[in-house]
Amino acid sequence: MVIGIQGSSLKQALSHALPQLACWQPAAVALMAPDRPPLSFAGLANLVGQLCGDLAGRGFGPNTAVGIVLPNGPETASCFLAVSALATAAPLNPAYSEDEFRFYLSDLDVKLLLCGQGMGDAARNAAKALRIPVLDVVLTEGARAGEFVLSGDAELAIAGSAHLNEMQLNGPDDFALVLHTSGTTALPKIVGLRQRHLHASMTNTARTLAMSADDISLNVMPLFHIHGLTAAVSAQLAVGGAVICTPGFNVLKFYGWLAEFRPSWYSAVPTMHQAILARAARNGDVIAKSRLRFVRSSSAALPVSVFHDLERVFGCPVVEAYGMTEAAHQITSNGLPPARRKPGSVGLPAGPEVTILDDKGTILSVGEKGEIAVRGANIHDGYLNNPEANATAFTDGWFRTGDEGLIDEDGDLKITGRLKEIINRGGEKISPLEVDNVLLDHPLVAQAVTFAVPHAMLGEEVGAAIVLTDGASADADEIRDFARCRIVEFKVPRHILFLQEIPKGPTGKVQRVGLADKLGLV
Ligand code: AMP
Repeated sequence: MVIGIQGSSLKQALSHALPQLACWQPAAVALMAPDRPPLSFAGLANLVGQLCGDLAGRGFGPNTAVGIVLPNGPETASCFLAVSALATAAPLNPAYSEDEFRFYLSDLDVKLLLCGQGMGDAARNAAKALRIPVLDVVLTEGARAGEFVLSGDAELAIAGSAHLNEMQLNGPDDFALVLHTSGTTALPKIVGLRQRHLHASMTNTARTLAMSADDISLNVMPLFHIHGLTAAVSAQLAVGGAVICTPGFNVLKFYGWLAEFRPSWYSAVPTMHQAILARAARNGDVIAKSRLRFVRSSSAALPVSVFHDLERVFGCPVVEAYGMTEAAHQITSNGLPPARRKPGSVGLPAGPEVTILDDKGTILSVGEKGEIAVRGANIHDGYLNNPEANATAFTDGWFRTGDEGLIDEDGDLKITGRLKEIINRGGEKISPLEVDNVLLDHPLVAQAVTFAVPHAMLGEEVGAAIVLTDGASADADEIRDFARCRIVEFKVPRHILFLQEIPKGPTGKVQRVGLADKLGLV
């Protein structure tokens, strides 16, 4: 059954995902994509309304997690907007293994999976094992960017469900998005972002970058990660500007997209900027004609040399921001002229309050190094179903980020290191414990400790120290092949060391931070 919703309520559904509906011109372009006709805001509102009606008609509504497994592109964006207006969007990396899908789908208590037609075997198998119904995301002939229909007969049996009769959309306190964040000392944790967190974050980001309806964002970020979802897509659409939804970062296509779509900005992680710079010389014509107003970098540290090279090549300001999933992305940001940019710093608080705490929770003074802590309208209220993590994550209402930094005399934040053990591989975050557990499943592995190894381009790579069972022998490739069947490629350790014993810290505990140094990998 599809619930009929017409006229203003179609528009209303979209306004639940994006707040500033008043600015929109119905005929203005909302979504663009290579080889697809563009979709207007009216078209997007129509689509989101229809999809919400379809999902509500099947019994889905607020605070029900709906998994999304789609290739990067305009359908991922529109699907996210629709689901987050009505239920809880759970976008997942399509490259996950079946084991990973099984973990994520069950941990998130996903009640329905939306999967691209003809793709996602691993996700479908995991859903089947967990008895989660699946609907196909189907592109019809001549579909405009982001347009699709849902096909299948999944219905959720919710006794007496109110939204079978009238569509109940998300309110400010309902969970619009759930994402896993790499755990510090444990497995990935669930960050639940309510509609109000997403609205605060997209509004903060749009304000920081003075985004308007004249802007066009080029999204190259994966849309199962907060950076792309809030900054590149939602913030831009929220002020009435268009988003070009690419199939994901591809340096060979990047300059073609710049020439064809003429975006006014893009946001990426430093490794992408480095790849873009490496091909700049042969794309001088495209660069000369481009209309980039600024370039944004976030999710990992932007080397100062890359900052300068980008500004020189593109002739526009480069804005580095600090973000994290728990903050629905943006925390601090450098400014656009006339505001200042400070290479090597992540700028001023750009929405939430930011402070530096010592390990006892005391607020430190200017220039003193400690843990970066944040509070404000875009900061999550706590990890879901995880009282142990929440007990240490918050101090007097401040959320402790696990990042180490200081605030300088100008008020700018500088990130100096990380207290948490996650590995940041060019913006992709990896929980070491998750990799440990996979390695420990190998019959010849007695002990395994995964840790970050510094890497010139990526910032960090994945390393693992392994102690084999008595008398066993194995080589690194064999261990990697074993891991590859169980975890997505970016988590597979590139450096594997076989040791007799794993070095311990002074308390006898393994200390992942600094282990690469101790093992001579630096
Ligand atoms: P995620 O939750 O995947 O967005 O990752 C958040 C983490 O990425 C933060 O806690 C930082 O460790 C790191 N991060 C984000 N932005 C930056 C930046 N501009 N410089 C250095 N690290 C960053």
